[in-house]
Amino acid sequence: MVDVLTPEQRKFNMRRIKGQDTRLELMVRRELHARGFRFRLHRKDLPGSPDLVFPKYRVCLFVNGCFWHGHDCNKFKLPTTRREFWENKITGNRERDRRVIALLNEENWRVLTVWECAIRGAERLPMEDVIHNCITFMQFETSRLASEIRSNPQAQ
Ligand SMILES: [Zn+2]
Repeated sequence: MVDVLTPEQRKFNMRRIKGQDTRLELMVRRELHARGFRFRLHRKDLPGSPDLVFPKYRVCLFVNGCFWHGHDCNKFKLPTTRREFWENKITGNRERDRRVIALLNEENWRVLTVWECAIRGAERLPMEDVIHNCITFMQFETSRLASEIRSNPQAQ
C-alpha cells in the first residue's frame, strides 16, 4: 500500500481516531473501575499504547470505534466520496490493529477489543453484558490470547 500521508497528517489523523473513541472508552473505564478493577491508561511504552492496561491480569484493552477501525458490522460504511482515500486509510488502520495485537501477544499481553457497536447503536449489548464479558476474559479465559466484544456476535 502506498502511504500518501505526511507524518504530520498521520499524527493529526491518529489524534482524531483517539478522540472519537474517548467517550466510549470512558464508559468502559467507569464501569470497570466501579467494580474494583485497576488499570493504567494509554501506556506509551506498549505497542499501540493500549487504552486500558491491567497489569494484574496482563491484559490490554482497546475500545475501538467501528468506522475508524473498519469493523465488519453495520456501523461501518465506506463513504461514497473519496472512496479510495478512505479505503486505504481504514485498511491501514485495520492492518495496524492486527500488528499491534500480534506484538502485544509476543510480549505476553493478552488483548481484548471492545467495539463501539457493542456499546452504542441499535444492536448494542446491555452495558452489564459488555462488562461481564470483559471480566470473564480477564479472570477466567486466561489461555485466550485475544478476544473481542461486539454487537450480534453470530453475524459474520
Ligand atoms: Zn462494530
